[in-house]
This record gives sequence, C-alpha cells and structure tokens, in this order.
Amino acid sequence: MKKCSKCGAESVGEERFCANCGADVSVNRFGVVGKWLSGGGCLLALSPIAIALLATPIGGNMFSTAGDGGGAALFLLLFSLPVGLVVSVVGLVLWLSNRSKK
Ligand SMILES: [Zn+2]
Repeated sequence: MKKCSKCGAESVGEERFCANCGADVSVNRFGVVGKWLSGGGCLLALSPIAIALLATPIGGNMFSTAGDGGGAALFLLLFSLPVGLVVSVVGLVLWLSNRSKK
C-alpha cells in the first residue's frame, strides 16, 4: 500500500496513477535498479579482499600466493575492481537520474 504524494489517497496494487487525483505514483524501477547496481558494484569490486581475508589462515600472510595465504584471490581484484566500479557508477547514474522528484 502506497500513498499518493499529492493528495494523500492510498492506492492499492500497482497502479501507475492515483485514482483520486491522477498524480503519477508509479515506483520508478530504474531508480531502484540503479540503487542495487551501485551497491552491488561496490561489493563486487571489494569482494576479493573479503575472500582473501577469509581464505587466509590466522597468522598467515594475506598477500602470499604460496598457498598459505589468500593472495590468489587478490588477483581477482584486477578483474573485479574495474568491472565493479563501472557497474557501480552506471547504477549510481541511473539511481540519481531517476530519483523520485519532489
Ligand atoms: Zn492523488
């Protein structure tokens, strides 16, 4: 149940326009998708760091690739950082350009 921002009438379901005053009450999907993309992009960009941390035994060297550390996961950063950043920026632009206007 959402409320019309213009007249306050409650609308049921997924109508695009308020039944009372005709104002646009649709949820902006691009804005929602953009929000998720920007958050997901950040997570994707930084996830190898978390993997490296988790894969490193206590006392081990996180930056070692010799098998006693999670250093191999850090190589994923070469791939995930640019991809994650691009996804995040695209999502941010989508989000900001589709925020509900007040
Ligand atoms: Zn209304």
